[in-house]
Amino acid sequence: MKHRRIFFLILINLFVGMAYAEENIEIHDAHIHYDDDMWKALPAADALQMLKDQNIKRVLVSSTPTEGAAILYAQDSDMVIPMLRPYDSWRHRYFWYKDPELKNYLLSQLKEVPYRGIGEFHVFGKNADTVQIEEMIQVAHEYKLPLHAHTDLEGMTILLQKAQGLVVMWAHGGGDVPVKYLRNFLEEDPQFYIELSLREGMLDENEELTAEWKQLLTKYHTRFLTGMDTYKPSRWASLPETAFETRHWLKQLPEEIAADIARHNLNRLFPKQ
Ligand SMILES: [Zn+2]
Repeated sequence: MKHRRIFFLILINLFVGMAYAEENIEIHDAHIHYDDDMWKALPAADALQMLKDQNIKRVLVSSTPTEGAAILYAQDSDMVIPMLRPYDSWRHRYFWYKDPELKNYLLSQLKEVPYRGIGEFHVFGKNADTVQIEEMIQVAHEYKLPLHAHTDLEGMTILLQKAQGLVVMWAHGGGDVPVKYLRNFLEEDPQFYIELSLREGMLDENEELTAEWKQLLTKYHTRFLTGMDTYKPSRWASLPETAFETRHWLKQLPEEIAADIARHNLNRLFPKQ
């Protein structure tokens, strides 16, 4: 009797486990940070294990200082796609776009680590309109590096004009920028991508994708990326919840569309080397 009960319990767990694995869609994440405030608390191997535990198998990593991306890349060069941040400290974040040393900084970093893109960088409004940003874009062309920009509508308009022919990913899908502007950029620029971490307004009060978003994601399913954005220690701590929330809306889409957004688009942009 006892054995039968245990067998029954194992069977139930097996089914629950299978259902979980099925729902637990594999993610390749476009927005991970490993900043210096995490290095001691969460060593590189543990950070990558934490991601794998959430079935996150490849990650675009940028960090302040940029060495954080290099540390994770050294730990697992298959899993980690290192991104070059154009500023090396939190202070520098507020004037990097007009720093005359920017180009030299980028070129010297590119000698050290095989970075695959430039970003995530922060620049807003007319601050994106500088000679230094144009030099950064030249470097990106030369090394064939996509850009990952956290910016507003004005900033993105300026960047897209300057960066024609380059892949440009809009971090957080522009935050709260109205969908019509996203649609315009998607139509006008085939190299424009939308990364959806912390994007506002996608879900209604029942946590369901709005009709507008469902339509946008479905129509342009080859142009979106997902991300967790671990920009502070508490975001690392809440990684399981963020992954759960992301999958909650991915599951509301047809399977193949969800798979594009969850991982295929990232892999097309950053094929394994
Ligand atoms: Zn970020």
